[in-house]
Amino acid sequence: MPVIGVLAVQGDVREHVRALESAGAATRAIRRPRELEEIDGLVIPGGESTVMDKLVRAFELRDPLVTAIRDGLPVYGSCAGMIMLADRITDGTSDQQTLGGLDITVRRNAFGRQVDSYEEDLHIRQLGPQPVRAVFIRAPWVEQWGSEVEVLASVRPLGREHPVAVRQGNLLATSFHPEVTGDHRFHSHFVATVRGTVVA
Ligand code: GLN
Repeated sequence: MPVIGVLAVQGDVREHVRALESAGAATRAIRRPRELEEIDGLVIPGGESTVMDKLVRAFELRDPLVTAIRDGLPVYGSCAGMIMLADRITDGTSDQQTLGGLDITVRRNAFGRQVDSYEEDLHIRQLGPQPVRAVFIRAPWVEQWGSEVEVLASVRPLGREHPVAVRQGNLLATSFHPEVTGDHRFHSHFVATVRGTVVA
């Protein structure tokens, strides 16, 4: 059984633990650098990226996480987790840093500062014919992306494409929160990637 860590400094850790366990993984809450040695993959949950960034630095997890990402640890980031994995943010706070790894530019709170949540059914080929109910909570979207980035799903407000699920090498990210819907196909897909059994 693969062991998947959930970064547990801030955010909706418990929901991801539940989703990963129903997808057949063992889980560990990650708060210390040495705990990264015990895991085969990592989830960075939704929450608030500015706070998560500060805590990751305070817990001295930033450099070990950047190294683990660069060395190929499979990581799935949801919402604030997507922001943490982005190489660039359009509107971060002045001292906000990300871990990076995904060649994307994200816009925080992209659905509008007044829009707390928004839902849409998305078709994601890799997850089968049934649409995924995507729940966006003060969510980012992708503004720009590099040629190495595979777009799995997008929203199209005013006809402009904004990716909301992307993959690049060992990294997977969604603007939305599959952990809150009870549909664990995204987590199963990630667990399968970690097992190395996904045929893209
Ligand atoms: N708006 C939050 C941020 O900037 C993300 C919201 C979420 O993770 N649900 O980090």
